[in-house]
Amino acid sequence: MSEFDLIARYFSGFDRDAEIGVGDDAAVVAIPDNKRVVVATDTTIEGVHFPKDTPPDAVGFRALAVNLSDLAAMGATPQWFTLALTIPNEDAAWLRAFSDSLLGLANRFGVGLIGGDTTRGPLSITITVFGVADEVIVRSGASPGDTVWLGGRPGDAAAGLACWARRNESDDDIRYLVDRFLFPEPQIALGQALVGRASAAIDISDGLVADLGHICHASGCGAKIQLDQLPLSDALQGVVGEVGARSLALSGGDDYVLLFTAAPTLAFESCFAIGEMTTRAGVALFDRDTPYELEHKGYAHF
Ligand code: ADP
Ligand code: MG
Repeated sequence: MSEFDLIARYFSGFDRDAEIGVGDDAAVVAIPDNKRVVVATDTTIEGVHFPKDTPPDAVGFRALAVNLSDLAAMGATPQWFTLALTIPNEDAAWLRAFSDSLLGLANRFGVGLIGGDTTRGPLSITITVFGVADEVIVRSGASPGDTVWLGGRPGDAAAGLACWARRNESDDDIRYLVDRFLFPEPQIALGQALVGRASAAIDISDGLVADLGHICHASGCGAKIQLDQLPLSDALQGVVGEVGARSLALSGGDDYVLLFTAAPTLAFESCFAIGEMTTRAGVALFDRDTPYELEHKGYAHF
């Protein structure tokens, strides 16, 4: 199959409202009046971001989900994306499962695939998403006294990856945790609802403490987290115990749940308040009144 046949078969016809989509030298889209364009890119590489034997539907889903999650953290509405795909060979069953899952997620959020590039080499996927917004949420807007909130339960994805070798066991908790790693749900609706209400936001990709550290650094303040307020899932506690669950919730990455700050007078349904912003630089952890030390703060590539 030629590169053009491959693109036509698996990646064409999903360009939605693009004026020019897949098939020309570049894509052309019209931007609604007075909106901001919000752009994010993320690469996922086999053996680095996901294990070698990850099923193709998960590879496709995750590659787009992690990018949508960045737009969620800005409060933007995703509209289009491009796909730079490097594959070792043309495995039709692999490509079909990859493309169906990726485009299924794209369809769910109304995002069009407007272009890309297809090359041969070790499996790697780079996606660029384009969103629109009237106003965005940045990392730098938090103030001392703001409450720290989580949009979901942290630690599950890291536990799923840690249990990778046991993924085929018929254990509901393990299956749940592995799925949290393979199929993270981008919190687009929550992000949109936070615009004008949250003072700062980020999505958790490197770990709660590491990513909260980014908000603190950008905002010029610190944070204090109450460990007993961490919303730990039953599956996580069941599989790794309470101590392991805390540690994964604090330093495990790949959750793609939103972490945000807001004035203490505001409340957010289905979200969890876990602490507050302070004047003292850094992220301090407390087990009730006792300071708590974390050995391993989060994932860093370099
Ligand atoms: P060029 O040589 O001009 O870079 P390509 O042969 O790389 O063009 O791509 C042809 C068309 O197919 C372009 O519109 C490009 O954006 C699109 N395309 C290539 N690969 C993909 C892909 N994996 N997914 C979606 N569109 C793709
Ligand atoms: Mg090209």
